[in-house]
Amino acid sequence: MTKIRVMSENLANKIAAGEVVEKCASVLKELVENSLDAGGTNIKVNLISGGLKEISVIDNGVGMDREDACLAFYRHATSKIYKDDDLYFIETLGFRGEALASIASVSEVELITCNGEVGTRVHIKGGETLEVEDAPARIGTEIHVTNIFYNTPARLKYLKSEVTELNNCTQFIEKLALSRPDVAFTLTNNDRLVVKSSGSGNLLKTIHEIYGLNVSSNMLEIKCASDDFEVTGFVSKPSILKKNRNHFNIFINGRIVRNNDINRAINDAYNTYKHEGFYPITVLNICTDPTLVDVNIHPTKQEVKLSKIEELTDLIYQTIKKVLYNNLLVPDAILDEANSDIKDNFIEPSVYESKKEEINTKPEVIVQTFLDIGAETKEVIKNEEFKSLKLYPVGQVHGTYIIAENEDGMFILDQHAAHERVNYEMITKQFKEEKISFTDMLVPMKFELSTSDYNLFMDRKDILENLGFVIEEFGINTVLIKSHPTWLKENYEGDNLKYIVDLVIEMGKNFNKDKFLDSLAKMVSCKMSVKANEHLSMEEMEKLLDDLVKCDNPYNCCHGRPSIMKFTNYELEKMFRRVL
Ligand code: ZN
Ligand code: ZN
Repeated sequence: MTKIRVMSENLANKIAAGEVVEKCASVLKELVENSLDAGGTNIKVNLISGGLKEISVIDNGVGMDREDACLAFYRHATSKIYKDDDLYFIETLGFRGEALASIASVSEVELITCNGEVGTRVHIKGGETLEVEDAPARIGTEIHVTNIFYNTPARLKYLKSEVTELNNCTQFIEKLALSRPDVAFTLTNNDRLVVKSSGSGNLLKTIHEIYGLNVSSNMLEIKCASDDFEVTGFVSKPSILKKNRNHFNIFINGRIVRNNDINRAINDAYNTYKHEGFYPITVLNICTDPTLVDVNIHPTKQEVKLSKIEELTDLIYQTIKKVLYNNLLVPDAILDEANSDIKDNFIEPSVYESKKEEINTKPEVIVQTFLDIGAETKEVIKNEEFKSLKLYPVGQVHGTYIIAENEDGMFILDQHAAHERVNYEMITKQFKEEKISFTDMLVPMKFELSTSDYNLFMDRKDILENLGFVIEEFGINTVLIKSHPTWLKENYEGDNLKYIVDLVIEMGKNFNKDKFLDSLAKMVSCKMSVKANEHLSMEEMEKLLDDLVKCDNPYNCCHGRPSIMKFTNYELEKMFRRVL
């Protein structure tokens, strides 16, 4: 008994510290999770001023009888009201009850509920019950929270602007809708529709409802399993990227979570398919034994710790990498919406789409399109077929782009991006070779370093030597590089060696061999590639085209910039209205 009391005090203190209820979205989270626990399949959220003025949640769940309704917003009422059959939720359930009590203690709450017998309306302000009366008998629960933090001005000032609070609430409902395609969610703000999902039970359709057609038609399906984990869901093609990681939607056993290791695995899988600082949209459902999940790191921040995390991150990384590779396509210059398979099954994005844009002030999806013509026949060139293609150079534009052609259409290449890709794959292949070939330099290069830099560099000496560099000590804190691997082209050694030395030092104590080699390959391949405004002869262009088509991923430079775009003959004809 004593132990339980101590626990509760502790929890109450945490709540007092404002850890559970800190913004409108955290109030919303508690209310909506209640609705889900009550078996609600249609949940409506109405906000006024982003929740600052009012947060209302209306569900069609089982509702409460009068006794439960009166207790719902008081501490220690949890066990009676919530089912606790799910082992995974047990630890957090206590918190849920506490959180409702905490919400009621710092705001005004109106609860209208009915379980099919008697309807009840309860009015609470500052934690005190003001009224309990009969209400209409609609099965389900309706909660209105107003005047948040009216009696705790110190916390009131932590609430953000309407836009920020609304953004947080929107993000939460979007994630929740993606985690529960079987539940219909509606979110309005000041009577304006912001989010709407249909509760169809179909994840891709929910993705369509949240992100729109352009995203849902560019998602790749993920399905994989290991001994302890099963992962299903969708990841976006590299042509659909966002400026932040907010769209990494990860659900473990149906619960929204955040985990940096998983985020990193996803991001690493897209290496060289995208620009740094841009992130894909992912919706991943992870099923696992609940005992492997520790949800108690932070009750509201959704961060989780997992046992066997490496098994999971490896599974995610390998699977996404494979799916991306198998689905690589030449980016079509013209976005083809008319041809997407799902279009017919899905309703066109309605009015709320455009309204959503206004709220989402964050940088938007990048789409590789500049012409709004839909082609009915889209040719899909799979990666392996691309390798046998022959492209013929036509000419160079502004010393920067190469125009090429073949029977299928016209291609535009960014010469630097294309050359960089060729060099990148050439160098990374060399890393894997058993036999190292190196070139002696006529004039060895000398680097004078500070003592600490010198020590750092010499610690990594063998890694460089294994690549074909010959390095010697040369007096105090000075290194001499006498030879370099042959893949480092002549005339480029000077700059590159300096960058390599800098890179080793920059990575310092966090040195990771794989990351180092990847950065090295990216940097050196960029340095050795033709730049913009450089004239190329027909022969040089032809060689570049031949080399590019043989690449594993000819479509991006190693930083994720597109290297080649295609206009099919059909698209050209359509553009000039030769066909209708
Ligand atoms: Zn570059
Ligand atoms: Zn690049």
